[in-house]
Amino acid sequence: MSCGFDLAHYRDLLDAAAAGGYRWGGFEGAPEPGVVILRHDVDLSLEAALALGDAEAEAGAWSTFFLMTRSVFYNLASGEGERTIDRLRALGHRVAHHAVWPHVDLDERFDPVVAWHNPDPEYMREPIEAAVNVMSAPWFDPGRYRSDSNQHWRSGCPHEPLARGEFDWLQLLTHPEIWVYDGATMRETMESFLDADRAARLEHLRNDRIDLS
Ligand SMILES: [Zn+2]
Ligand SMILES: [Zn+2]
Repeated sequence: MSCGFDLAHYRDLLDAAAAGGYRWGGFEGAPEPGVVILRHDVDLSLEAALALGDAEAEAGAWSTFFLMTRSVFYNLASGEGERTIDRLRALGHRVAHHAVWPHVDLDERFDPVVAWHNPDPEYMREPIEAAVNVMSAPWFDPGRYRSDSNQHWRSGCPHEPLARGEFDWLQLLTHPEIWVYDGATMRETMESFLDADRAARLEHLRNDRIDLS
């Protein structure tokens, strides 16, 4: 099995967790043994979030999607944003807040759970009023945390340790864009994302009654 960053290997990860005897969990209470908490920080693309959410639902999995209110790449208050939240919830996923420090824009769209976007160490693990900070104890523990940052697993792809049941529990952070768009490197994946984004923006222009003849 090759550890690519694509939807096929994302499904392998889900299968590996199931083979290891894990069940899916969220951030309601302290992590229990045997739980895998799937977490997605949606930095760039609602379309990618939905594609990953669909793939998980097909595999019988659910996760927590952290969506931004202050993204320069997408608008959660747009029709597309509202439809994304509705669809993710309908598929059985949780919707939480990917916040840009120091702003916490929690409202009725979100469960009271926050992940900071690109946090600095000074505030990364600090408590947040009336919300869970996913990078604080008990949800964060360095030995029970893996992330796909910039298309690179710092401690190796977790599919084998998951299949062997080696973690007593795990918070697994993945970024949908990395898995949904093609590319052997982060640069290539971002080029694929930009190609898709250009096509989507052309469609927005058409819908805006812009003459593209
Ligand atoms: Zn792997
Ligand atoms: Zn982020």
